Amino acid sequence: VIAICDVHKSFGENQVLKGIDLEVQAGEVVCVIGPSGSGKSTLLRCVNLLEQPTSGTVHVEGIEVTDPDVDIDAVRRRIGMVFQQFNLFPHLTVMDNLTIAQRRVLGRKKDEAERIARRNLERVGLADRGDAYPAKLSGGQQQRVAIARSLSMDPDLMLFDEPTSALDPELVGDVLAVMRGLAAEGMTMLVVTHEMSFAREVASRVVFMDGGVVVEDGHPDQVIGNPQHARTRTFLSRVL
Ligand code: ATP
Ligand code: MG
Repeated sequence: VIAICDVHKSFGENQVLKGIDLEVQAGEVVCVIGPSGSGKSTLLRCVNLLEQPTSGTVHVEGIEVTDPDVDIDAVRRRIGMVFQQFNLFPHLTVMDNLTIAQRRVLGRKKDEAERIARRNLERVGLADRGDAYPAKLSGGQQQRVAIARSLSMDPDLMLFDEPTSALDPELVGDVLAVMRGLAAEGMTMLVVTHEMSFAREVASRVVFMDGGVVVEDGHPDQVIGNPQHARTRTFLSRVL
């Protein structure tokens, strides 16, 4: 579903990605781990072209998103993205947060958009909060609303960039539970996370990045349980 081939990305003199190769197949959950500044967010943003790679190619469902002629909005419509910050509209209710893009981007009628929104709020355990404003919700609830909003667009794949890093520890579990549910339903997911137990239990593959390269890519039991590289071991000894 995602094919990243020899992607380089520089910001001025700063070479952030130095030749990344990574594939994600349909239904896979690939967790990306690595130290701060290793380029994880930049890599994720190259998938939906929030960052334009300096060189290399990215394909999403067979479409080359790095082709200058591509209709990037059409590709982005199929990709859900959830960030550390939830980015909900504070002046809109939860329901309106979930329906606005469905109506404006997908052209869905109000009734249909609300029906889909309700179904997705149920999926994230917030069926009764449609009338609330984001400020009335906990961080974990807001993040689950953000996930429900993404799901309401019927994405073919989901990108997550440290979705639980801004949350109080006691709220992390509910968000991870929703993500586990999505994984179990077969959603294709590329997840940057520091949650090693989630990566270990849910990921089909774990990718360890350091200094703009993929150092290790394999089954979680391999990469987390029995890392082959000293850099991976050093990183894991700090986070585990
Ligand atoms: P973290 O774990 O802290 O989120 P990360 O692995 O996600 O780190 P990136 O956010 O991808 O790392 O950043 C990698 C490097 O790229 C950093 O040195 C950062 O300063 C630089 N960088 C990222 N985005 C930009 C930008 N828009 N302009 C200039 N430099 C950037
Ligand atoms: Mg980051």
